[in-house]
Amino acid sequence: MKAVVYEGPKSVTVTDVPDARIEKPTDVLVRITSTNICGSDLHMYEGRTDFETGRWFGHENLGHVVEVGPGVDKIAVGDWVVLPFNVACGHCKNCERGLTNYCLTAQPEKAWAGAAFGFADMGPWPGGQAELLRVPWGDFNCLRLGEDAEEKQTDYVMLADIFPTGYHATELAHVSPGDQTVIYGAGPVGWMAAYSAILKGAGKVMVVDRHPDRLKKIEEIGAIPIDDSTVDPVEAVLDLTMGLGADNGCECVGYQAHDHDGTEQPNLTLNRLVKSVRFTGALGVVGVYVPQDPGGVDDLAKQGIVPFDFGEFWFRGQALGSGQCPVKKYNRPLRDLIAGGKATPSQVVSHELPLEQAPEAYEHFDNRDDGWTKVVLHPAY
Ligand code: NAD
Ligand code: ZN
Repeated sequence: MKAVVYEGPKSVTVTDVPDARIEKPTDVLVRITSTNICGSDLHMYEGRTDFETGRWFGHENLGHVVEVGPGVDKIAVGDWVVLPFNVACGHCKNCERGLTNYCLTAQPEKAWAGAAFGFADMGPWPGGQAELLRVPWGDFNCLRLGEDAEEKQTDYVMLADIFPTGYHATELAHVSPGDQTVIYGAGPVGWMAAYSAILKGAGKVMVVDRHPDRLKKIEEIGAIPIDDSTVDPVEAVLDLTMGLGADNGCECVGYQAHDHDGTEQPNLTLNRLVKSVRFTGALGVVGVYVPQDPGGVDDLAKQGIVPFDFGEFWFRGQALGSGQCPVKKYNRPLRDLIAGGKATPSQVVSHELPLEQAPEAYEHFDNRDDGWTKVVLHPAY
């Protein structure tokens, strides 16, 4: 089968690899029809992780079932399914509590750290930027879709990661109807956080970034864009909230935060977020803070140690939630919002391309080239 294979920093090829197949009785084999490129793939693509060459990416996957193992009884051949990016067993202590992002079974090497498809340090699971994907614990990890699955696959594939992750950021930040909410980052995740806040009935949603195309799109969905290359974003938020600060806020950038001149400052958005949110407000941090950059950022940041203004955070009595999204917790209700015509997360998509065009898509998305907001790859099916 064809897959998007990692060849080294900033290099992927679409190459023949061994077909994915049923290996255990509880496996489901899915023919992938939509698979997204994610900002999280870029950590690996840029060579910031120890992702091995020859492996393939892809943790945002949707397709139809072509084979099931003998131990699978809820999922059948022909079902259209979307796969949460977390790989989870469904029966360990964490899974039973809904913490499928920290499944204790799915990663043999670091049992506590959770697992994902096509990821560095997240277990052995191949990705879905390929024609076929083996889904372990298939009854648990497949979310079945309705009759509109194929037609609306560009919406439903966002259930694998960025729609639930954006929603999770707003849950961690306790976003409620009427709230004034600030989001750092207008990439796909920040966009979905802003969209989720709007769906929840937030009164005012402010989004900080500096890419004009992303900010324009954010404005189109009813959020207030703040361009931090022209204004101090903290001052802008205070001005928009009568000097008090937002009720809550989400960090959707991560350690790759940079000043608008391009200098990486892994603590920049985190500290700005603290100052943009009012005393006793809540913060949801879904941007990734586990960097391993051999060249770009300083040694402490390489270890994930970023200078956080804890004094300011403490003084303000704020709450903070962070980490990977437990996709399964949200993807069923979010699926039903899409099915009911109440949500269209495909709004983030700028490009739908055949799998073969993955190399150029990675290059443009990694450069954050104008107009490249989110790419869906479609293997032939
Ligand atoms: P992205 O790189 O496309 O978007 C990040 C955005 O942040 C860009 O638009 C960039 O211009 C902006 N940015 C950079 N510095 C900034 C600053 N100082 N102020 C404001 N904006 C700034 O990536 P994405 O796909 O949107 O993902 C965002 C983050 O979320 C990444 O770290 C990704 O790995 C992470 N993520 C986490 C989870 C999870 O489960 N927690 C899931 C998916 C993605
Ligand atoms: Zn993702």
